Amino acid sequence: MNIIKKCWNAILEFFFPSNLTCMFCGRDVSSPKICYCQNCAESLPFNLGKRCKICDDVVCGDSEVCDNCKSHHKSFDKAVSPFSYEGSVKALVLKLKNDNAKYLAPQMAALMAERLYAENFDFDLIVPTPLSQKSFNKRSFNQAELLAKELGKIFKLPVDTTSFVKEKETKHQKELGFSDRQKNLQNAFKIKDKVKLLHKKILLVDDVMTTGATANECAKTLKKVADKVYVVTFARNRYGKK
Ligand SMILES: [Zn+2]
Ligand SMILES: [Zn+2]
Repeated sequence: MNIIKKCWNAILEFFFPSNLTCMFCGRDVSSPKICYCQNCAESLPFNLGKRCKICDDVVCGDSEVCDNCKSHHKSFDKAVSPFSYEGSVKALVLKLKNDNAKYLAPQMAALMAERLYAENFDFDLIVPTPLSQKSFNKRSFNQAELLAKELGKIFKLPVDTTSFVKEKETKHQKELGFSDRQKNLQNAFKIKDKVKLLHKKILLVDDVMTTGATANECAKTLKKVADKVYVVTFARNRYGKK
């Protein structure tokens, strides 16, 4: 970075300190260690309550596993998300993705890390959910990769962005359910470097889990060589919510 850019960034940081405002609404927060203000804290859609021990979706009654996981075997060992994908959390994810708001990634990753520490997952390599070349070209960055790199810094672990790729361009999945998404994603992902992933305990990272079909297909492919695949996303859809 050249000296002018460094000075400019320091000036910006002085007048608009990135770590003293709420990541959701921009209001001031009392400490740089706090990511969101009291107002947002009271209304944020935290992924709380009784949840599926496999995919972290909400479950009703006595069951430990949600209906989706009961009817569709999941190849990942466990998935977690700190938030439900709605309201201000949804707006934040879309901002990162569509408005190129890369500055949000460190705080989003910090909140994902909080949840991971609580779970005590044992992983030794971080891998972002890959985008196809076409999607990457369209956006010019992979939001999952940004989050994975920040998690790598927090956990002081390597982040592999090249050994696992999405080779097949898939149809838009917005309107599809789990089974159709699974069909759509069949053989879409590929391991490029087996040696780097061999016997690894992988943390797969993405911004959102919708039905779990993408994470499942990734895990299915990764598990051809890896020992474990855990999944973390910033937010998830809550199908079990009544
Ligand atoms: Zn706020
Ligand atoms: Zn489940």
